[in-house]
Amino acid sequence: MEFEPVIGLEVHAQLLTASKMFCGCSADYAGAPPNTHVCPVCLGMPGSLPVINRAAVEYTILTALAFHCAIPEFAKFDRKNYHYPDLMKGYQISQYDLPLSRDGYVVIDDAGATKRIGIRRVHLEEDTAKLFHADGASLIDVNRAGVPLMEIVSEPEMHSVEEARLYSIKLRQILRYLGVCSGDMEKGAMRFEANISLRPKGSRDLSQTRVEIKNLNSLRAMVHATEFEIARQTKILNAGGRVEQETMGWDEARNTTYTQRSKEEAHDYRYFPEPDLPRLQIARDWVAELGARLPELPDEKRERLISALGLSAYDASVITAEREVAAYYDRAVEAGKARGVDAKAIANWVTGELFRLMKETNAEIGAVKIAPEQIPDLPALVSAGTISNTIAKNVFEEMFKSGQDARAIIAAKGLAQISDRGALQAIVEKVLAENPKPVAEYLGGKETIARFLVGQVMKATKGQANPGMVNELVAEALSKMK
Ligand SMILES: [Zn+2]
Repeated sequence: MEFEPVIGLEVHAQLLTASKMFCGCSADYAGAPPNTHVCPVCLGMPGSLPVINRAAVEYTILTALAFHCAIPEFAKFDRKNYHYPDLMKGYQISQYDLPLSRDGYVVIDDAGATKRIGIRRVHLEEDTAKLFHADGASLIDVNRAGVPLMEIVSEPEMHSVEEARLYSIKLRQILRYLGVCSGDMEKGAMRFEANISLRPKGSRDLSQTRVEIKNLNSLRAMVHATEFEIARQTKILNAGGRVEQETMGWDEARNTTYTQRSKEEAHDYRYFPEPDLPRLQIARDWVAELGARLPELPDEKRERLISALGLSAYDASVITAEREVAAYYDRAVEAGKARGVDAKAIANWVTGELFRLMKETNAEIGAVKIAPEQIPDLPALVSAGTISNTIAKNVFEEMFKSGQDARAIIAAKGLAQISDRGALQAIVEKVLAENPKPVAEYLGGKETIARFLVGQVMKATKGQANPGMVNELVAEALSKMK
């Protein structure tokens, strides 16, 4: 029988707030010595009291609005009770039945076909401490405990690994556009959990036994674990077996899932309202104010680049992939407007030469020395005939290295295009004299060889000759010989 996977994802995203979720400790703990970003609250000391971080609530609502979620009038925090050494209080403050948002969606683009993936809820909780197991001992670093953690729960509406991958990329892109999460998976800022079941292809049934895979710390781990689990369940079902409901972990090194706990041991978290925190009343004007703060999001930006600026879908996608790149491009276009430089010409330079050099030097857009306002210089200088397109690429490379102005580089290196008819004519005559054989072939009827002669003239001028003029002069000189 043919099966179709049913995949739901839970994404945990650390919020970029200055302080932790319920105390004043700095949430920027990356690289800090262990257990230095701690206080009685995040250490879980008896008698300490939590205080809600307003910025974290705002970031969560902002994210929920970007995912078209409904924001209820009331929300509350609940205690999720379980015992694990990384949980300082013996419970996690999370949200159970009254989350900050519900019922949204995100649009993914799977090879040109767009699809809405439902977002069940976006809620807020706190991160746990971090355990290290070494030399037969377990060590704990509490710096991470209490860092605001947003949980984005999708509906089980993805039906291929590719859809799950695209959904995750889109989520990360939007979080980075909003500036609420770094999306840095190497530092654990974004983690995944996947729910996977299989159903007969064509069925609408959602009652199949789901397997949950936890601890997926990268996009790659999520993709590999999901692929592995689909294959494992397919094998069981094809052999007439039954998939057990269980929670699994992912062993990255061995590329396999393993059982963490089976249904019989499933935890009862004994959720109950957090008695130390008030219920949150979410005023409508607060939501409206946050809505007004939403930046132009990737889909809108991409659409604008296509419809208003005439970019290809491909160029628009690569330019809007990162907010910083899109902002860079917008600034370049703005600077080009005043000088009559077309947005498409600027896109060509950005997606072509700039991306190539960034890739070669492993540079982020923030480290690029060419200011966006300098980009329109190149297409402007090419269309004015000051430099050829080939020379422009060399100039661009110099600009990338030094941040110098295009004109300064052209002047310093004497790269300006030779459009002096007399000077070029002399070079053409010299080249023809030095190439008697091709000239003879041309006169014998092989007219395509004129291109070779043009190439020789360009070479003799180190590419600086005005190519249109060279074409003209070569044709003229040859026709005179006939
Ligand atoms: Zn603290």
